[in-house]
Amino acid sequence: MIRAAILPAVGSPLEIADIELPEPGPGQVRIRLAAAGVCHSDLSLSNGTMRVPVPAVLGHEGAGTVLSVGEGVTHVAPGDAVVLNWAPSCGTCHPCSLGEIWLCANALTGAANVHAVTEDGTELHPGLNVGAFAEETVVAAGCVLPAPDGVPLTDAALLGCAVLTGWGAIHHSARVRQGESVAVFGVGGVGLATLQAARIAGASTIVAVDVSPEKEALARAAGATEYVVASENTAREIRKLTGGHGADVAVECVGRAVTIRTAWDSTRRGGRTTVVGIGGKDQQVSFHALELFHWGRTLSGCVYGNSDPAKDLPVLAEHIRAGRLDLSTLVTERITLDGIPGAFDNMIAGKGGRALVVF
Ligand SMILES: [Zn+2]
Ligand SMILES: [Zn+2]
Repeated sequence: MIRAAILPAVGSPLEIADIELPEPGPGQVRIRLAAAGVCHSDLSLSNGTMRVPVPAVLGHEGAGTVLSVGEGVTHVAPGDAVVLNWAPSCGTCHPCSLGEIWLCANALTGAANVHAVTEDGTELHPGLNVGAFAEETVVAAGCVLPAPDGVPLTDAALLGCAVLTGWGAIHHSARVRQGESVAVFGVGGVGLATLQAARIAGASTIVAVDVSPEKEALARAAGATEYVVASENTAREIRKLTGGHGADVAVECVGRAVTIRTAWDSTRRGGRTTVVGIGGKDQQVSFHALELFHWGRTLSGCVYGNSDPAKDLPVLAEHIRAGRLDLSTLVTERITLDGIPGAFDNMIAGKGGRALVVF
């Protein structure tokens, strides 16, 4: 039996319970978790903004050590340090055939599988494929990537969601060029990773925007050169900070209509806005036809940073080893499994960066 944080039903609080995992079958890997980040998507799954089969073991951003492997698994072996990837790609669907593996149509087909059982025999699903809020997990081989050498697993845990997403928003989606100005909306785990990615890209002015004045030091440590407390004047303030014309790039890490609209308004004529935040269907963003023409701006969605994790992880590892990317500054709280509900409360209240479950 191992301990895990379980979502019993949509809208219910998480419960800590003992679960029984199967031995890894063909093409599967069993892992002992070292650490798992608490991502806003875990909250979105628990409140029903995003849906997966329940009851489920949540947690999708983690790193650990391989305990055993099933038949046919050759890319990792027992004892290897690994990073979890919640969006494995099938390699054969239409997006995969185009190289857009982050849009793989089959990425979440494993969500309906039985992942584990509780003591009373209740069958549990694997949340976003990996069930990382548990001392151990069994996942498909495609969800396992070798961890970069020289990076502590407590840092590497963040690579699998927040860092790939923030990195990809800047480098793959918005394609920030040296000297461009960037505004980042929402200073949580992904926002902080996005700020660091913008700094690495050589952005000139980097504006962090958040509703909380308390995140300024955190944002500046991650690369922000300016800090704006969100208000109805945010777009005007950003224009003032960027020579009067607006930011070249805005990255929205909140997923709310008003923030998406403000991010778009904050960019220059021809500017690019990348939306990383995940909102609900009630968040309607509107534009009138003439402004779309006049401003010539781009608005893009962004899934998992438009990243190929197997290609991006070695690049990120180089930046980490060179000291350009500092993952420890993203973590504002280290907790145990029992601390996850409190971490959800902090996210709802807009407090802190990443909470990290350390096993
Ligand atoms: Zn996530
Ligand atoms: Zn695919």
